[in-house]
Amino acid sequence: MAHLLLVEDDELLRDGLCAQLRLAGHSVDAVDDGVQAKALLESTRLDGVVLDLGLPPVQGVAMDGIMVLRWIRQRLPHLPVLVLTARDDIDDRVAGLNAGADDYLTKPFDMAELLARLAAMLRRSRMPAFDGTLQADAPPAHRLRLDPQLPMGWLDEDAMELTHREWSLLGLLLKHLGQVVGREDVLAVWQTQAPEGGVVGGSNALEVYVHRLRRKLQGSGLNIRNVRGLGYMLELQAP
Ligand code: CA
Repeated sequence: MAHLLLVEDDELLRDGLCAQLRLAGHSVDAVDDGVQAKALLESTRLDGVVLDLGLPPVQGVAMDGIMVLRWIRQRLPHLPVLVLTARDDIDDRVAGLNAGADDYLTKPFDMAELLARLAAMLRRSRMPAFDGTLQADAPPAHRLRLDPQLPMGWLDEDAMELTHREWSLLGLLLKHLGQVVGREDVLAVWQTQAPEGGVVGGSNALEVYVHRLRRKLQGSGLNIRNVRGLGYMLELQAP
């Protein structure tokens, strides 16, 4: 089951899609314009978005699907987005893919195809465990580097001692900088690792590790934010 955002201004289509997505076991937030979409994206942890490209202006201000998509790509680079485009509008389709859509469907589409493509898109996007590699384009606005193989980090030239669990937790957060990493995602990684200092991975242990990491990150320009009920997010501190 995934938590999806559906952005579609055609009421009939929106209601129909909503019902089908829920039948398929997803939970769905549905909105009919780009401003509401942004508000939801900012306040909710989502697994994927179904986005109509042809959205109406809001109070006279243009806010079509491409603008929403560009905004998503800046703020939530890994969030999978499937765009819906008008039939035969090749320009729209190309613009959608250029703006970072993961997949698209042209209207009218078959509901079974939408569900299949959505499932494939969500599968592809499942959060991978930290495997030592970091995004090559990680923003350099902070001082932290992690060793890709050994449980070590650096704040500029200062070595930071990390336990294996601290390293894998920090790596996971760093890889998804600016995104919420669910507790379950961390615990799932820890489950594959040996207990540390007699501590078996669990929700309480996770809080202890986050607390320790926060101390170690002081002065790094990074902060671990607790996102209530969801997990943790590594974020850049305001300068
Ligand atoms: Ca539309």
